[in-house]
Amino acid sequence: MKCKEIEFTFFRNIESEKIEFKDGINVIYGENAQGKTNILEGIYLFARGKSFRAFKDKELINFNSNVGYARMVYESKNGEGELGVEIPKSSNKRFYRNKNKVGRTSEIIGDFRAVLFCPSHLGIIKDSPSVRRKFLDIAISQLRPIYIKMLAKYNAVLENRNAILKMSDEERKAYEGILEVYSEELATLSADIANMRIDYVKKLDFWVKRYFNEMTEGKEAPNIEYETNAEGEDFNSRESLKEKYLSLLKNNLDRELKYGATLYGIHKDDLKIELNKKDARFYSSQGQQRSLSLAMKLSEGEISKEATGEYPVFLLDDVLSELDENRRKYILSNIKKRQVIITACERTAFNEVENVNFIYVSDGKLCNAPLNNGEEIKENIEE
Ligand code: ATP
Ligand code: MG
Repeated sequence: MKCKEIEFTFFRNIESEKIEFKDGINVIYGENAQGKTNILEGIYLFARGKSFRAFKDKELINFNSNVGYARMVYESKNGEGELGVEIPKSSNKRFYRNKNKVGRTSEIIGDFRAVLFCPSHLGIIKDSPSVRRKFLDIAISQLRPIYIKMLAKYNAVLENRNAILKMSDEERKAYEGILEVYSEELATLSADIANMRIDYVKKLDFWVKRYFNEMTEGKEAPNIEYETNAEGEDFNSRESLKEKYLSLLKNNLDRELKYGATLYGIHKDDLKIELNKKDARFYSSQGQQRSLSLAMKLSEGEISKEATGEYPVFLLDDVLSELDENRRKYILSNIKKRQVIITACERTAFNEVENVNFIYVSDGKLCNAPLNNGEEIKENIEE
């Protein structure tokens, strides 16, 4: 998978720019607050269907405009494709595939695949379980579009069930039959979704072990498992998972009524991450968290390749600068066969790497890098 070019019009601080990317390593560099992450955000918008950091789509529209646009040409093993997005202030954003409007955002997910790694992902090890579930949800969605539909249905049923649990005893009487139906639906969907997650986590565990082993020269052994209250002996059977989720819902109704919320199901599950048999949530150092989260992201790329036959594009936002030289070299040597788009404040860390496409950004514009020993570095501007 390759992102060949992206064109922005009134997108964040970029008024109008077309950026071309090459195979291998592309480094977008420049000072703080110039638009480096905005470019990655725009690319990733086409992989995930929404921004990885904006709370509302409207934040993506340039301050001086009422509408923002982005258009990307990508290449997959099926050939070249174009995806576009129009983000108006007054209505919802709309995606286009080869200039044709698509009905729902979810339809474009999977066309262009990318793995994003940004500083907030370091929290994947220690932050709350919702961060780890989100990691799984985004990764699996890109590979299996049906997963997004199942998750949306699950959330809708969950909301309805919670509304009943919040009712007074008197009010609830009329809804008891429906509550049972919802419990049954949640248990079935939980089993289906958990099954896909378990399947994914097994692959993740395999690849993380491998990457981590190489990165730390065998000093540290990770272990990753899916963690659910519905865990049982025959963990893998869909029927038994469903029965477990259902019995948890049935047997704990009093507790759920007290809290006014559904307390069991895949919205409460988690990933158990261990290093040398110790829970990484409580015992891992900063460096271990960084290495683990990077290994998880690289593994996400491997699993995507196994499933689709090609590597996704890797988008690394300002993360390599914090690694020590050995680790940075290891990562760069491992990813150079894929397309990688990296942001950094300085280009010096990449000067020794061969065939890097350097892109300098200043105030939302591509331009010649500032004077360096009396010479302008000209890399992105064609004469
Ligand atoms: P850093 O190195 O600090 O991460 P960066 O180059 O990645 O910096 P970005 O996050 O890409 O910076 O861009 C930030 C800039 O974009 C800020 O100056 C911000 O004010 C500007 N910006 C953000 N949203 C908009 C918008 N909707 N319209 C115009 N400018 C915006
Ligand atoms: Mg940034």
